Amino acid sequence: MTPSAAAIGPFAARSEDFTPFTTARHWIGGKWCDPVSSRATQEIANPRYGRAMGEVLLGGADDVDLAAKAAARAARAWGEWPIRERAHVLYRLRELMVRHIDELAWLVSHENGKVFGEAKAEVEKGIECVEYGCSLPNLAAGNQLEVSRGVACEVAYAPLGVVAGITPFNFPLMVPLWMLPQALVGGNAFILKPSERVPLSSLRLAELLKEAGLPDGVFNMVQGGRDAVEAICDHPLVKAVGFVGSTKVAKLVYARASAHGKRALCLGGAKNHLIVVPDADLDLSAENIVASFTGCAGQRCMAASVLLAVGDVGHILDAVRARASKITLGKDLGPVTTKAARDRIAAYIDAAEASGAQIALDGRTANPVAGGYWIGPTIIDHCRPDMPCVREEIFGPVISVIRVPNLETAIEIENSNPYGNASSVYTSSGDVARRVMERVEAGMCGVNIGVPVPREPFGFGGWNDSCFGHGNITGWDGYRFWTRQRKITSKWALQRDQTWMS
Ligand code: NAD
Repeated sequence: MTPSAAAIGPFAARSEDFTPFTTARHWIGGKWCDPVSSRATQEIANPRYGRAMGEVLLGGADDVDLAAKAAARAARAWGEWPIRERAHVLYRLRELMVRHIDELAWLVSHENGKVFGEAKAEVEKGIECVEYGCSLPNLAAGNQLEVSRGVACEVAYAPLGVVAGITPFNFPLMVPLWMLPQALVGGNAFILKPSERVPLSSLRLAELLKEAGLPDGVFNMVQGGRDAVEAICDHPLVKAVGFVGSTKVAKLVYARASAHGKRALCLGGAKNHLIVVPDADLDLSAENIVASFTGCAGQRCMAASVLLAVGDVGHILDAVRARASKITLGKDLGPVTTKAARDRIAAYIDAAEASGAQIALDGRTANPVAGGYWIGPTIIDHCRPDMPCVREEIFGPVISVIRVPNLETAIEIENSNPYGNASSVYTSSGDVARRVMERVEAGMCGVNIGVPVPREPFGFGGWNDSCFGHGNITGWDGYRFWTRQRKITSKWALQRDQTWMS
């Protein structure tokens, strides 16, 4: 390990122009360092150009061990800070993030591909999560009650010690901030394993946390992929694992971390259905449906993927198509994450077309910037429920339309998909809205809104194959996940009476 305290400093870009950045190294004990034994590296591509803007050094078990030991050394003292003082670090982090918001947004935009406005919205949502962390001292007061004469019971939230978070490529800054505020204010030391495709935003986050006054070792970061994740799941010092990513890996991480007796909450993939009925408001529905399936190039776990068109809604489908065809790729919408993702998405569209679906809007030939991983908004109409484009997560700006005769059929199709992240209905009828809200198998539901993300303080989390473990990752559930309750029963007063606890 060659540690270095030198700051990497700000990312220079203030436009979409190709801008290289630093090598992503580990951050352990408040210093940058290289992997102990692995020499493996991976390119970090800017997806707009399909060109490397940096590289990441891929760590493994040795590096996780160093990070866990550094975290364990720091955890005790940090856990003894009063909760308000721990939250004050987040107050300062919030100010730093606001001050550097454009820099952070450009960094997210360059490494992930989303356009600047989307990237800035991501940073703003990350700031909202930090603000929730700032409010925790007011929420975590616990409870105290005199349960019998002279005997008091009290609940206090104690840290777990060393905890870890593993995050996906699609929200490089926001998803780590789904976990960090609650875990840190809860008094834990944290190990982040960011996506190896987008580790650069987290590098700046590490430096901003240090500048905000977080003691060395309380936040650590190990770069890498599967080896690092498995080492985190196996390491005896790590007491809890939060994961966000695909269902396949969420299941693996949940099983492996749980097998080692760790607390685990693993959020997986999604296949979100929208239901539109004839009485829906035309403009509101069309605008929302398009924003939901195209925003962030469809690479949101809350993105619409299937549209269940109930009865005579041809006018709404026409408006959706008209709006989606006006999107300028490269300006309103960014590329997808890799060439493999681009080719996989195109293959789903090819297969649907070959099986008889109609491509009402075709993004397959879009290529606004040479070399980038581009695919434009695509509408696959007249799909059948058994088609792969309807059954499987595509994770691109594609919506599959199934025409159904009634609401019952729409709800049945929605409920037959194994995922359960989000589902929305477009209607002007309170009765229709309530029937859908009561019956869809989804943890986050919307009425006339295409991306029904529960904003803070409401917790984020899906059902079924979209979530393994109990509860939500954000909000109060997050604080409960990263802490354990200590129940204290005390008796200081002289015996005032006979009770069964005497
Ligand atoms: P991914 O599952 O490929 O990777 C997520 C993390 O797991 C990364 O840090 C990666 O390094 C690690 N990883 C990958 N393969 C692994 C393996 N075999 N063993 C151990 N670790 C491994 O996901 P992604 O492609 O980065 O992100 C997209 C997915 O994340 C989509 O499925 C999307 O729906 C999902 N997602 C879900 C939510 C949610 O809240 N439910 C939020 C964002 C993204």
